[in-house]
Amino acid sequence: MIRQTTLKDSVSFEGIGIHSGETSKIIIHPTSPNSGIIFKKGANTIKAHIDNVVDTSSSTSIGDGIVYFRTIEHLMASLYLANIDNAIIEFIEGQEVPIMDGSALEIFRLLENNYEVQDFPRVFGYLSNVVRVSNAKAYIMAKSPKTMDELNVSFEGEFGSFLKNQTCTYTTKLEKPIIHENLISSRTFCHLKDAEYIKSLGLAKGGSLENTLVLTEEGALNQEGFRHQKEPVAHKLLDLIGDMYLAGFRFSANIYSYMGGHALNVGFLKEATKHIKIIDIEEVIAV
Ligand code: ZN
Repeated sequence: MIRQTTLKDSVSFEGIGIHSGETSKIIIHPTSPNSGIIFKKGANTIKAHIDNVVDTSSSTSIGDGIVYFRTIEHLMASLYLANIDNAIIEFIEGQEVPIMDGSALEIFRLLENNYEVQDFPRVFGYLSNVVRVSNAKAYIMAKSPKTMDELNVSFEGEFGSFLKNQTCTYTTKLEKPIIHENLISSRTFCHLKDAEYIKSLGLAKGGSLENTLVLTEEGALNQEGFRHQKEPVAHKLLDLIGDMYLAGFRFSANIYSYMGGHALNVGFLKEATKHIKIIDIEEVIAV
């Protein structure tokens, strides 16, 4: 039996939110099997689930009219990649997940190898049909996986004149995520020409060169440059993995995104969940 997991030890971190510019303090606690990922502030809780998404305009936010949590995608990706099923994300201060260095690296490191197996079977699914969602500039296409326990996610896009035809792929077995360092360390990015406009909309109040890779026509404005060649496209893939975890469980599929953002990721997931069938992973692995 492949069992569910929770944290071995609580972890805490703090930092500013990229959009609010305000400080948040978070403790991630272990919790009981079948809980999923629960966000908590005071006595109010909400599940990290596709049905609770209330905003995707610049990041993914969940809410229910009483509580609201913003920019949850890098934390969700970290929990996915760190192999954690059940956790309580308690906000001691603030309502936006801190952006940290713009990537998932710091949060992932707190969670890496910090899980404990629980005595309940883990639920897995697979995509049983073709799903396609699109908008004017982007689309996501997905079909059944090659093997039932394998997730394959690709992202393709253009990020300026010197970053054309960028692609990044992540492939993993469902039962234990493969660690892809370049995915985890890729930072949030923006184009220099858009930076002022984004700020004028009241977004990215906490954005700076400390937590955002700023792209110019020639390269990066950040003194340290890129962390690796595919940093922007890898970050888009990281966002997609974080948003996919709002299904509430892990599912296998073959997914291709061309320039999809949070709104399309969530639209895709809503459509995909209609076609996800639960699998008995023991049988799949045994074949
Ligand atoms: Zn992101």
